[in-house]
Amino acid sequence: MLFTDTHTHLYSEEFGNDRDAMMHRALASGVRRLFVPSIDASYTQKMWDLQAQYPDHVFLMMGLHPCYVKPETYERELAGVLQQLETQKYCAVGEIGIDLYWDKTTLAIQQEAFRQQIRWAKAMKLPINIHCREAFEEVFAVLESERSPELFGIFHCFTGDFEQAQRAIGLGMKLGIGGVVTFKNGKIDQFLNQIDLEHLVLETDAPYLAPVPYRGKRNESSYTVLVAQKLAEIYGVTLTEIAEITTKNAQNVFGI
Ligand SMILES: [Zn+2]
Repeated sequence: MLFTDTHTHLYSEEFGNDRDAMMHRALASGVRRLFVPSIDASYTQKMWDLQAQYPDHVFLMMGLHPCYVKPETYERELAGVLQQLETQKYCAVGEIGIDLYWDKTTLAIQQEAFRQQIRWAKAMKLPINIHCREAFEEVFAVLESERSPELFGIFHCFTGDFEQAQRAIGLGMKLGIGGVVTFKNGKIDQFLNQIDLEHLVLETDAPYLAPVPYRGKRNESSYTVLVAQKLAEIYGVTLTEIAEITTKNAQNVFGI
């Protein structure tokens, strides 16, 4: 079986002591396609080092994470993102979006950075990878105003309700399903089976949001299989079907 983790921070400091072992566990579990979102410029070199080490398995995105959009630095960071997109091969623009959980004071520049990066993605025909925390209306407002056939991607770590899921899909997004689907109070497990599997992709968001039974511990890409198992239960299909369909969906988004 071949699984795809569409969102994993492999370069995280959390893997500083055992990154190679973590990578080998992922590959041995069948999680052999790993899509890595960017946070800010400080991680770019680490991302490329990993890509060089695992060229057949690691695929990189470029973008400025909303929590790193700060008044003093965001213009320089965005210039760096554009320069990277123009000179290196990336499979998506991400992760980008709006986060009002950690900092509400930067909303205006978060909106600006989100919109700017969406426009670059559209111009370069790349998908986007959306980070949205306590900001559904704000994210949807930007997406609606940028709606076009060139706008597509993944709504990463989707935790909304059925209506929000349909809205995201209507805007050209797949839903990134991760550890939250295994949580008792995660809620999305209750309506997910009303959404066709063709709209879903798997992810871990490692090292965050580990699925049950590792909830609260460090997450890693091999746990993609646990998310897939939960989806197989919810949809009443085999694990192989989940692996095949979600991998195909990810291929459709990323074009690789
Ligand atoms: Zn992330």
